Amino acid sequence: MEKFYCLQTGVFGVNTYIVPLEGESAALPRPALVVDPAACMLTGDASKITSLLSQKKLTCQAILLTHTHFDHIMGISVMKKAFPDAKVYVHKAEAGELGCGARGEAGGIINRSILSSFEMEAVLDGVANQPEADVLLSGGEVLFDDWKVIHTPGHSPGSVCYYNEKSGLLLSGDTMFYHSWGRTDMQGGNEAQIFESLSLLKKTVKPGTIVLPGHDHFGFNIEENR
Ligand SMILES: [Zn+2]
Ligand SMILES: [Zn+2]
Repeated sequence: MEKFYCLQTGVFGVNTYIVPLEGESAALPRPALVVDPAACMLTGDASKITSLLSQKKLTCQAILLTHTHFDHIMGISVMKKAFPDAKVYVHKAEAGELGCGARGEAGGIINRSILSSFEMEAVLDGVANQPEADVLLSGGEVLFDDWKVIHTPGHSPGSVCYYNEKSGLLLSGDTMFYHSWGRTDMQGGNEAQIFESLSLLKKTVKPGTIVLPGHDHFGFNIEENR
């Protein structure tokens, strides 16, 4: 069994990760985490994640979000339809970006601002129609025995990384990229905060950890970013 699978999904081809949970029973399908699902009707790849799950005999146990930018969340509703019991986890600072349509809102403050500056308002409907979060995070939680939540604001106010010391994996969202980091010039971004978050990560995360970011090159050793 692989430690993780990576698929590019949605409007910007975000890195969506499927991470089988360790230590669960050998019964099939095995539970897995789905991180930042963006596959949806709009981009014609709505079944990309569910197909891989069934091919690998996995079931979606939970949907973890690294943050709520539109390019990371458009596939939540597809996942929820296929796996109604899977809970959506997000940092509380960005809870307002989800479940907007159900509250009669056209979208959260962050995504409305970003999509209008990108002249991508057509995407807003799909964003607004994503279901609300089930579990709000503050940072410091340990999920599914091994996955520590680290609050890493800067790219967005509710950016988090998920760190598994045992398996040596860091899901870094748009906070840490290969030799780089996420932009901070959009609504809710803060440059001083992302530098604090990056140094927190380097202090917290063990050498040799494999980094799985939200875009581009993935699977690099955190030492390569020092
Ligand atoms: Zn982002
Ligand atoms: Zn992104």
